[in-house]
Amino acid sequence: MSKLLIIGAGGVAGVAAIKCAMNPDTFSDLLIASRTESKCTAIKDNIARRGYTDCNITTAQLDADNTDETAALIDRYKPDAVLNLALPYQDLSIMDACLKAGANYIDTANYEPPDEAKFEYKWQWTYKDKFKSAGLTALLGSGFDPGVTGVFSAYAMKHYFDEIEYIDILDCNGGDHGYPFATNFNPEINIREVSANGSYWQGGWVETAPMEIKRVYDFDGVGEKDMYLLHHEELESLAINIKGIKRIRFFMTFGQSYLTHLKCLENVGMTAIKPIIYEGREIIPLQFLKAVLPDPASLAGRTVGKTNIGCIYKGKKNGLDKAYYVYNVCDHEECFREVGSQAISYTTGVPAMLGAKMILDKTWTGSGVFNIEEFDPDPFMDGLNKNGLPWTESFTPNFVE
Ligand code: NDP
Repeated sequence: MSKLLIIGAGGVAGVAAIKCAMNPDTFSDLLIASRTESKCTAIKDNIARRGYTDCNITTAQLDADNTDETAALIDRYKPDAVLNLALPYQDLSIMDACLKAGANYIDTANYEPPDEAKFEYKWQWTYKDKFKSAGLTALLGSGFDPGVTGVFSAYAMKHYFDEIEYIDILDCNGGDHGYPFATNFNPEINIREVSANGSYWQGGWVETAPMEIKRVYDFDGVGEKDMYLLHHEELESLAINIKGIKRIRFFMTFGQSYLTHLKCLENVGMTAIKPIIYEGREIIPLQFLKAVLPDPASLAGRTVGKTNIGCIYKGKKNGLDKAYYVYNVCDHEECFREVGSQAISYTTGVPAMLGAKMILDKTWTGSGVFNIEEFDPDPFMDGLNKNGLPWTESFTPNFVE
């Protein structure tokens, strides 16, 4: 019986909240707080409409950029943990508020400074000593990627390998929402991520031009898709935490229409993050673009098809070569029927709830700042199977060249 404060009320928060309500033995009380309180109320109403009434849910208005305001809310509500499902820009102010008011911290995306399209763990890793001396746990990256991909890696290491030499993380969204262009999570964060240079780790970082490396892969449940190498945050922590690693890469699928629209928007300056003056006031082109694009949560109900996200490992067990592929296939329409979301919010919201559950149940303990692969993967893997994200494994995968 414990209390969780969720910050943010977007697509991911909507799924995490309903999944908490479906696990009332852990989550007896939930406070959903965000910039726009009506969105918190809409999440609460959706949960009640679907009949999950055993968790006591309240809502609040909060500007999480303001550490004092956030700490005051934590102080009043006294949650066991704060689940940060706002934007990466709020990570540090929310971590500061948790330290100030004494709450554990969980998120799904690493800190990004608003004025620079750069995401790295270095800012959050500098909080290790502060969380340690406060006796608090910060769990970083409890979404799908990062998140489940780290848990998959810890599971592969624990059960199947002495050393993992190669990891390829493959993120495929085979969904079709019928719009010419829309992003499946926050458009601003998504476009910053995919328009940045790519990179992979091979004994050191190798940088590529955006979308320079393309491969084709035949995904179970989806079929053949073009995928492109991107930089992604879990590469940074897995390169450190997985023993024996020689190379780690991340690929994401994109359709031609998405890429053509993105190129055009880039070419006309709409993805820029430097402010411009428009009719006497400062605006950021990418934030304006976000305002005219479909809200990712609104893709629910009109997206058909499946996602397939997983990791392919190559390494050694007892001196012999070994391969392993573990992935989840998730159906957009089934997510909509179950909780009213699309599959990207679902595949992020379920692990966000599970990360919080691991901390609230004290299944995962420790003082400091941790990436998810540092904890025992088994209870989380079990939780995925029980909460809507079952996984499939293969010991004879097709490799990516
Ligand atoms: P949305 O844009 O749909 O939701 C973000 C929410 O945060 C909105 O409700 C927004 O409020 C709120 N918010 C923004 N700024 C503040 C603030 N200063 N104070 C309080 N609330 C604020 O995003 P998503 O739900 O799609 O994504 C949520 C997070 O999940 C992001 O950080 C994203 O990067 C991450 N993510 C992680 C993935 C993974 O696999 N690890 C995959 C997908 C997403 P308002 O409604 O007023 O705008």
